[in-house]
Amino acid sequence: MNEVRTRFAPSPTGYLHIGGLRTALYTYLIAKKNNGKFLLRIEDTDQDRFVEGATDVIYNTLKLVGLQHDEGPDIGGPYGPYTQSERKPIYLKYAKELIEKDGAYYCFCTKERLDKMRADATETKSDFGYDGHCRHLSQEEIEEKLNAGLPYVIRQKVPKTGTTSFEDELFGTITVDNNTLEDGILLKSDGMPTYNLANVIDDHLMKINPVVRGSEYLSSTPRYNLIYESFGWEIPQYIHLSPVMKEPGKKLSKRDGDASFDDFYKKGYLKDAILNYVALLGWSPGGDEEFFTLEELEKVFDTKGLSKSPAVFDVNKLRWMNGEYIKNLSLDKFHEMALPYYKEAELPEGMNLKRISSLIHGRTEVLNEIPDMVAFLNVLPEYESDLFIHKKSKTNLENSYENLTKAIEVLNDVEDWNEDTLHQVLFDLIAQLGVKNSLLLWPVRIAAAGKLVTPGGAIEILGLLGKDEAMRRLHIGLEILSDALE
Ligand code: GLU
Repeated sequence: MNEVRTRFAPSPTGYLHIGGLRTALYTYLIAKKNNGKFLLRIEDTDQDRFVEGATDVIYNTLKLVGLQHDEGPDIGGPYGPYTQSERKPIYLKYAKELIEKDGAYYCFCTKERLDKMRADATETKSDFGYDGHCRHLSQEEIEEKLNAGLPYVIRQKVPKTGTTSFEDELFGTITVDNNTLEDGILLKSDGMPTYNLANVIDDHLMKINPVVRGSEYLSSTPRYNLIYESFGWEIPQYIHLSPVMKEPGKKLSKRDGDASFDDFYKKGYLKDAILNYVALLGWSPGGDEEFFTLEELEKVFDTKGLSKSPAVFDVNKLRWMNGEYIKNLSLDKFHEMALPYYKEAELPEGMNLKRISSLIHGRTEVLNEIPDMVAFLNVLPEYESDLFIHKKSKTNLENSYENLTKAIEVLNDVEDWNEDTLHQVLFDLIAQLGVKNSLLLWPVRIAAAGKLVTPGGAIEILGLLGKDEAMRRLHIGLEILSDALE
């Protein structure tokens, strides 16, 4: 069997869509699984859509997640160039050859004529399709127009009768009536090819097999196959991948900030977690295991596990998975990643950030939640006295007031303010009062934090705040209680 060679062929739009990343990943995995080659091809022939820096986004993202290509624009290879805009002469040559083989023709229709046809189609509510006006021009007419320098496009000459079929690995046999296929443009008047031509020429010349791409190309694949046939080229195997949706029938949208890899990465999702989750969008590993490194995927991935129904991107599942990835980081690594978020939270100078990291490490699902999680260490939130009332701890306003007063008394005398000493002092007090731990610790924690849910308990929070701020907050708590008791 020939070497497996797959390609990821993004158009540089400025961002890498989650569905695109998944195509890249599966394409990469199919190559790796078969000891084949994974190519990167930049499909930039639509110059209207050109976005500055967009190819860098593609390179950087693939590099970041570890999908290293074996051939591509930046590293070269035996079948370059790998950027379509640099392959213009190749497309022209093959487009002309296709005319000779009766698979294409020159079309000199003016924009005005086509616009009118389009307008007429809209009026009669019918689908616009090219009417084949230039399909039957005589050789003389063609020569004359070419010599006169008239602008032209090259269109595919699709047979008007019969059917075209092909096999897709996922979708099975696809058959279409040729009379439903349009004489689509292959080469535009600026000499740039359309996807219709470029994908065939490039996949053939770059020896791509199988062709792996989104299912939006499924219905036009018969047209591409007709081109392969005109040239007498072998048709590749096809694997068309189902789309990734937000929910059934709804696309992920750039505007909602949930369409691109970057949207998630910038929010503090780990690249490995995103890649792991994306792997599961439309592919089932066949067992219960859901956690895979890229290396593991290279071993276990199998196209048999691909599904043809649209995959639903469940952001809550990604959150959960990301939290698991975060838990698996070493504390040092987590700390390093959390630092920019502490900075954003503007925590007081000198606060023990490493201690905060150890407290929030196990409960952070997405890094960008960190500023909110730690904001209370910067500014005491405004809160109501009812936070002191906790059934399970048996606290109410009266006993909270009483116990907080006693805690303040002993804490006032603490000179060496650290968790060990605080622990000692508070537990001595608990023993002396003969009460349940929570009866004392609950009001202390609420007063210190000003909120119900906190990373760490009373002692850790007091330790982080330092004596001055901690005592200030405990007194505020006491005031809130006393006001409520009046
Ligand atoms: N360039 C196409 C796109 O970005 C992908 C084409 C392909 O995978 O064949 O939609």
